[in-house]
Amino acid sequence: MEIRKIGVVGAGAMGTGIANLGAMNGYEVIMRDIDMSFVDNSIRSMAKYMERSVEKGKMSEEQRQAALARVKGTLVLEDLADSDIVIEAVIEDINLKKEVFEALDKICRPEIILATNTSSMSITAIAAATSRPDKVCGMHFFNPAQIMRLVEVIRGLKTSDETIATARALAESFGKKTIEVRKDSPGFVVNTIMTVQFIEACRLLQEGIASVEDIDTAVKLGLNYPMGPFELMDFTGIDISYFVMNHLAAEFNDGRWAAPFIIKQMVRAGTLGKKTGGVGFYSAK
Ligand code: NAD
Repeated sequence: MEIRKIGVVGAGAMGTGIANLGAMNGYEVIMRDIDMSFVDNSIRSMAKYMERSVEKGKMSEEQRQAALARVKGTLVLEDLADSDIVIEAVIEDINLKKEVFEALDKICRPEIILATNTSSMSITAIAAATSRPDKVCGMHFFNPAQIMRLVEVIRGLKTSDETIATARALAESFGKKTIEVRKDSPGFVVNTIMTVQFIEACRLLQEGIASVEDIDTAVKLGLNYPMGPFELMDFTGIDISYFVMNHLAAEFNDGRWAAPFIIKQMVRAGTLGKKTGGVGFYSAK
């Protein structure tokens, strides 16, 4: 089935990035949130991103206007009924995601794919809230979605080959590289590897083996990574790392994944990292 119209649920950081990618790549986009101010902010931020793209010569002013005209916002989930695929990017709450999928399943045509941008939740559990688990998959974009090159396409227990192929083709039409995560494993590929590194970096710090700055410098220069683990935790938000670590510990039944004490203390102190306007490893000092 040809995809012309993309439904996006959630107009936050990720929903905005995904909607922006869709609009810039010629798709109609309908984006739903629970408050019109979130939708308006999202469209404003897309307009700004596209303005910069015009300045950089990546698109013309006419293309920018046409792309923005392809994005519509709504508070009504039923307005997504004629979408050819829906990508969900609401907050990371399994009960909310299941509610959204159950509602989408009733509203959307039975043949369309319902994808989730979850960072860590079970695709199989989300799919089970629908009557079409074969047409549910993960499409894990990275932040900022307009810029990051990878999309992990994740197979739930019942996801069909056709669903995986269609989701990969869509992400590739946005200019992304895709990988298939063949099993619905907590943290998928990237967040599993990233979380191990975060935990080990915190252990080195806690044991006094090296400072925040030196650990980041070591990783950047020694492994040729663009950011060190502490910079990256500050960027994504300490609270998000805390949540993901504890989620992996619970899912794997293994305390080795649990959030290190230093992270727990920062969350207790309300030091929630850049995203929430709080502080992190660098600004906390
Ligand atoms: P966010 O908090 O910026 O945005 C979430 C949006 O969902 C908010 O605008 C909120 O109002 C909206 N929302 C809540 N309930 C809703 C509902 N019932 N219907 C429609 N909208 C609703 O969050 P985010 O950072 O964009 O993350 C969204 C998802 O993407 C999460 O599952 C997260 O784990 C995942 N993710 C985040 C990142 C990241 O770095 N931020 C990266 C990859 C994946």
